[in-house]
Amino acid sequence: MKVLVINCGSSSLKFQLIDSESEQCLAKGLCERIGIEGSMITYSPEGGEKEKTETPMPDHTEAIRLVLEALTNPKTGVVKSLDEIGAVGHRVVHGGEKFAESVVIDENVMKAVEECNDLAPLHNPANLIGINACKKLMPTTPMVAVFDTAFHQTMPEEAYMYGLPYEYYQKYKIRRYGFHGTSHSYVSKRAAEVLGKKYEDLKIIVCHLGNGASISAVKNGKCIDTSMGLTPLEGLIMGTRSGDIDPAIIEFIAHKEGKSIDEIMSVLNKKSGVLGLSENLSSDFRDLEEAYNKGDAKGIRTIKTFCYRVAKYIGAYVAAMNGVDVICFTAGVGENAALVRTSVCEYLGYLGITLDQDANHKRGEDIAISTPDSKTTVMVIPTNEELAIARETVRLV
Ligand code: AMP
Repeated sequence: MKVLVINCGSSSLKFQLIDSESEQCLAKGLCERIGIEGSMITYSPEGGEKEKTETPMPDHTEAIRLVLEALTNPKTGVVKSLDEIGAVGHRVVHGGEKFAESVVIDENVMKAVEECNDLAPLHNPANLIGINACKKLMPTTPMVAVFDTAFHQTMPEEAYMYGLPYEYYQKYKIRRYGFHGTSHSYVSKRAAEVLGKKYEDLKIIVCHLGNGASISAVKNGKCIDTSMGLTPLEGLIMGTRSGDIDPAIIEFIAHKEGKSIDEIMSVLNKKSGVLGLSENLSSDFRDLEEAYNKGDAKGIRTIKTFCYRVAKYIGAYVAAMNGVDVICFTAGVGENAALVRTSVCEYLGYLGITLDQDANHKRGEDIAISTPDSKTTVMVIPTNEELAIARETVRLV
């Protein structure tokens, strides 16, 4: 079956068409600036040339119409007609406590996703718009929602509760949810597969280090803790998000700089993280690594602080699971930044880890980067959220 995977943001839309038998991506692309002047569609068929076309996209329905047109284009398309697309898998960011698994989308599911809008006001409404737009253009094609939060729904109460008045949980469902669940699930399962071990027998820590970053503890095949919280702001230091801070800092900045809560939240989400720490040098680790290697104080401070936080979370999750068998690195930074992996693992001597630096410098493979005699295995597993969404979609339809 051919599965269209859609990841819809408020003004952008990423897509991939995946052949579920071969698990190959047949074409992928991106619509940008939807509803804004200068909208653009990028389309890359497998083995063909990447095309970038500027064309008006007043709304998401038009964006999806253009995607379907590109996929069925007689010259550069990869299917003859839309009938060849057997199902659509939608990434949905927040499933609240309602969804511990992916589901086939119907009216009730749409309503339940909408009820989670409060928890992810930037993401869920956009995801729903994408689903509605697809339903309009492909009314008979089955669709599945795959939630970023679902994998983390197995966390025990002690991991998901905050030390706040309990009534906030009762009234507003304020608790830890966690994100990047599709990636944490895919990577932890893949690690077990590559090692030829039973998923249910392992204690795995997954470090998803991308522009957004989160860590999870997966014990015997179930997520028992993760670093993102009610929103993706908690936990690690990220590209532009602060991660954990003393909550009193918000009040302190409000008084000192005369800023409103919304303005401070914007600083914490968009101007903090490695971007802020490096005095706006960059949010991109390629630039930060270059600065680090030149001995630049901003690069050194930023990379050291980032890696220290990762190592601290790993330590916490070793405690939470009473041990660890495998530590996986994934996503843009985790898959590519050998320096970050080395710096994090320098803190982990107590776990009996030695890195194999030849393996640590390879790219694009599922690979163990610790030496065979290391007591804990460290791996790089490139994440593939689209493939994971396609697999879930096929499983359910
Ligand atoms: P993601 O959110 O998973 O797409 O990751 C994006 C981030 O990965 C970028 O912002 C970079 O910081 C990082 N990244 C991508 N390629 C490299 C690379 N070759 N070396 C270091 N960092 C990289």
